[in-house]
Amino acid sequence: MKAILPLPSGGFGLTEVSPPEIGPGEILVEMRACGLCGTDLAKLAHPEAAAGVRLGHELAGVVRAAGSGVTRFAVGDRVTAAHHVPCGACWACRHGNESMCPQFKTTQIDPCGFAELIRIPRLHTEQVTFRLPEGLSFEEASFAEPLACAVRAIDRSQALPGDRIAVVGGGGMGILIAQALLARGADPIVVDIAHTRLSLATALGVRTVINPARDDLGRTLAGLTDGAGVDGAILTVVNGRILKDIQAWVRSGGRINVFAGAADGPDLSVDFLDLYHREVAVFSTYSSGPATLADAFALLASGRVRVGPLISHRLPLSAFDEGVRLQRGGQATKVVFHP
Ligand SMILES: [Zn+2]
Ligand SMILES: [Zn+2]
Repeated sequence: MKAILPLPSGGFGLTEVSPPEIGPGEILVEMRACGLCGTDLAKLAHPEAAAGVRLGHELAGVVRAAGSGVTRFAVGDRVTAAHHVPCGACWACRHGNESMCPQFKTTQIDPCGFAELIRIPRLHTEQVTFRLPEGLSFEEASFAEPLACAVRAIDRSQALPGDRIAVVGGGGMGILIAQALLARGADPIVVDIAHTRLSLATALGVRTVINPARDDLGRTLAGLTDGAGVDGAILTVVNGRILKDIQAWVRSGGRINVFAGAADGPDLSVDFLDLYHREVAVFSTYSSGPATLADAFALLASGRVRVGPLISHRLPLSAFDEGVRLQRGGQATKVVFHP
């Protein structure tokens, strides 16, 4: 079968390998759709760290075989599965930091999401695999994992109905976060310099968008909130200027959620005096866990979050490099690969 794996010459590319074999409690899934994630691009940008790195974790497909003892799924079921499973019992898990669980990153699908056939291990089959209802396509279901990251981000932001949250960056993740906020009754303000992204956000129900290349971000946020500042911000794009503007225009007690690596970082300055006096929180969100995956899957299955319009390119695995180029260059909102 074909899969995108590390090449002996360096980097990643289409490789012919033997299909994985499943054991008790495991299922074998024939991939039908697998999204390209920003973290895949980050991994590709650092080929020196390629040893052991797997690409593709936003997958959906059909169960082709089920190992002994599997009761939740049967051959022919349409499913989506996530790639990591926390232990649920360690310090990180008990404190809601499941993605920091030592077990989390050691659990993996085999060989990766960008493969014709994928072995879903027992823990994954039991805890982070979901059966698709009729009407939910493979492509839509492949958004369960990234949407779960969005749902967890707004959980950690403590977003309440009516809260006005600035979502900085209107790419695929930004728009998922904005839709998850809308589903919760909050009021996202999407910030992006690309008109097409802002139009997409508007088409999906976002009431307020800001283009900081055209309008001053700080002044606009101040005007929108009668000078009080936004209730929180989720940064899918991070740089020094954005952080400064957002810290200036998040309300006292507001929460700034860092959802991406800094473009001009890692050493960005934060006004700690202001942080202290105004009880502003700066924190981050990385990945998700089984409970948020279930929440995200329910949002997709109910149609409350629409992901179809985010897919800008559909490509076969043989055009992997092209998909990477399109998403990295910003021409693609979301690339979804098919076998
Ligand atoms: Zn992802
Ligand atoms: Zn744990």
